[in-house]
Amino acid sequence: MTRQEQVNVHPSAASPWVISTRELGRRPGNMRTYQRTLQAPAGFGLDVIGIPENAPVTVDLRFESASEGVFVSGTAAAGVVGECARCLDPIEYPETVQLGELFAYPDTATEATTDADEISRIVDDYIDTEPMIRDAVLLALPLAPLCQEDCRGLCPECGERWAELSADHSHDTMDPRWAALRDRLTSAPDADAATGADERR
Ligand SMILES: [Zn+2]
Ligand SMILES: [Zn+2]
Repeated sequence: MTRQEQVNVHPSAASPWVISTRELGRRPGNMRTYQRTLQAPAGFGLDVIGIPENAPVTVDLRFESASEGVFVSGTAAAGVVGECARCLDPIEYPETVQLGELFAYPDTATEATTDADEISRIVDDYIDTEPMIRDAVLLALPLAPLCQEDCRGLCPECGERWAELSADHSHDTMDPRWAALRDRLTSAPDADAATGADERR
């Protein structure tokens, strides 16, 4: 697919994230608002945290007509679900992201002098708000989510949560070379012979 074809891909008007600008009109200063609750598509998150697919996302958008395009601003709100990067406990919290992006009209200086991946386009009077909202959601998500700021994570030896272990919790972490020597000194002679047989195999 050539770059030109990519730019002209028609955003599916069947997608609930795609909004027509026909009612808004092209006169600078015109304004319309949209409040909708939509189902999150796949990809509104990272591996460990995000908005689950099909979960409700409440969008509150303001479309303002300007000379070069339509400025879309507002908020998107949804429940974020994930797990703590340290202790793997489930995490759940509400998130509201702020939006603000210009979508260029075709045949404007803005369209002529920018790439579609810098300034989004209005295609056949439609604005696809999904990429803008997805980007804002991904930016708002923590790369290493924590159940609480001072989560102490898990004991690397037994995998239990430090928060649930006693203060003096520890493991007999003897150096494996010493452990082997100790085993040799304490094992019965016939056990020694069996070990030797294993080694010769
Ligand atoms: Zn945690
Ligand atoms: Zn432990």
